This record gives sequence, structure tokens and C-alpha cells, in this order.
Amino acid sequence: MFSPSYYYLSLLLTSGFTAYLYGMKKLFLLSLVVLSGVLGARAQTPVYKVYAIKFAGSAYPFTAADWAKGAPATDSLKFNFMVWLIKGNDRNILVDAGFLNDIEDAKEFKVINYIRPDSALYKLGLKAGDITDIILSHPHWDHIDGVGLFPNAHVWIQKDDFNYFVGAAWQKGEGSGGFNKRDVRMMIDLNLAGKVTLVDGDNKEIIPGIKVFTGSRHTFNSEYVLVNTGNNRIVLASDNIWIYYSLDHLVPPADGGTLDPAGYVKAMQRMKTMVTDVRFIVPGHDAAVFSRFPAVAAGVVEIK
Ligand SMILES: [Zn+2]
Repeated sequence: MFSPSYYYLSLLLTSGFTAYLYGMKKLFLLSLVVLSGVLGARAQTPVYKVYAIKFAGSAYPFTAADWAKGAPATDSLKFNFMVWLIKGNDRNILVDAGFLNDIEDAKEFKVINYIRPDSALYKLGLKAGDITDIILSHPHWDHIDGVGLFPNAHVWIQKDDFNYFVGAAWQKGEGSGGFNKRDVRMMIDLNLAGKVTLVDGDNKEIIPGIKVFTGSRHTFNSEYVLVNTGNNRIVLASDNIWIYYSLDHLVPPADGGTLDPAGYVKAMQRMKTMVTDVRFIVPGHDAAVFSRFPAVAAGVVEIK
């Protein structure tokens, strides 16, 4: 924002020009005040840039049928692990935090080309300490395990998702699949340290221009993120849509992908009404994300 310094102002006011020129200067100063007011108002409207950042692939020979109901078992599916960065408004916000490669579950996925999520951010000139917020779509290991890499981040997660993750999930007859005990302990510690906000339900603007929504039930109460960038509205769906096939055909995920298949489809229909263009709905694990948007570095695309 432009604002003239007091030094500059006093120079103008005390210089020995004629009364006529002094009047012109007053007019000039007035226009500066008006201009800085306009620019100031514009600066208050958040403007964000949004990126998808790949930090691992999988050598497992997946097909689309492994991830979307009714998808052809003959179509091979390139599976990626990624995080998303929302940059602007003096914040660097991650949506999900990825995982550390020592995690047992990663072995099943035959993880390849792994780089630690904080190292992947170097490609955008960011260090781990620069991350101000992490919005967790859900607490599965491949999305939450990396939270501890970011020492200054405040964490946002749905209250019901958090409560289930740290509590009921571990009771007999409940579901802790995809949950990791190390991550439970980490999240409890972060909550004790006052670094977690539990978001209570659907359609909440948690940060100016950034809203979260529920309904897909990928986990107990998973959420997705709508970003108003100033130019576009973008949905970062994370695993509320695993792959593009589900979105393109409005079909639920393969078994195990949601607690509510009808809700999952309804959520995708709803996402379509939120975005400025359907291509601005970004699924959680489809490698095609990295060929549909312009690359800004290897394994980094800007969603625009
Ligand atoms: Zn996932």
C-alpha cells in the first residue's frame, strides 16, 4: 500500500512555493490520501494463490476400480501423495501435511519418489517454519503424520473427526483403519499446547476467504476446503474425492472410501455449485492433477 512519509509531507508543506502552487499541492496531497484509501481497501480483500505439491508416488499397480465404484479395472491409475498450499493474506496455509516415510502403512503402497513434505515446500521458497496454518481434511496417516514437521502451524480439524480419532475409534467394534497411534499422541499434545482449533460442522469460514465443508464422510466427519482466491473459487477436496473418475461419473469411492456413499456423491454435486469452473475441484490422490494445471516447479502446479 502506498502512503507518503511524514518527512515527504513536511517537505512539501514547508517549501517556499507560491500560494497557487501550494493550492495545487494540497490537491495533490488530497488525491494521495484518496488513492491510499482505495489501495488500503483493496489490500483488505484476501488474494490467494493455490498450489498442489506432490511428495510421493506409488509403484503399486493400481487401477481406477481400486478407487472409484464401477470404474474400469483395466484402466491403470497413477496414484500420488500430495499436499496443497494456500498462499496469501500474510499466511502460508497447508491443506494436509503428508507423512513421514518411516510409517508402517506406507509399505503397502510401495511408496516411490518420496520427499519429505517440508522439503517439497522448498520448491516454492518456503521453510517448515513459514507454515502458519494446517487445515486437516481428515486424520488418516498419509495426511496427518507430517503435522509435526511444521513448528509454527496452527492446526484446524473438524471437532467430530478429532474426537473420534483420539477416542471412540480405538474401542471394540469401531474403525481405526488408516489411523496411527503416533499421530493420535501428537494431536493430543498439540491440543494440550493450544495449537488446535476444533471446527464445529459444515460451511465455516475459518480464515478470511477460506471455508470448510463436511458431508462426504471419508472418515467420521472429514472436511474439504473452498478457497476464494479473489479470481476463482477452488475446492481442495482431498480424499473427499479420491480420483477424477468419481467426480466425472458422480460415483462413490471403492469400498472403504466413505461411511456414506450417497453423502459422498451429494458432496461432489455440491462442490460443483461452489467453484467457478468444475476443473477447480482437486481430488486427493489422482496424479492427473499434475498434468491438468501449469507447473511452477517439478511436482508443483498452480491451481489456476
Ligand atoms: Zn489419502
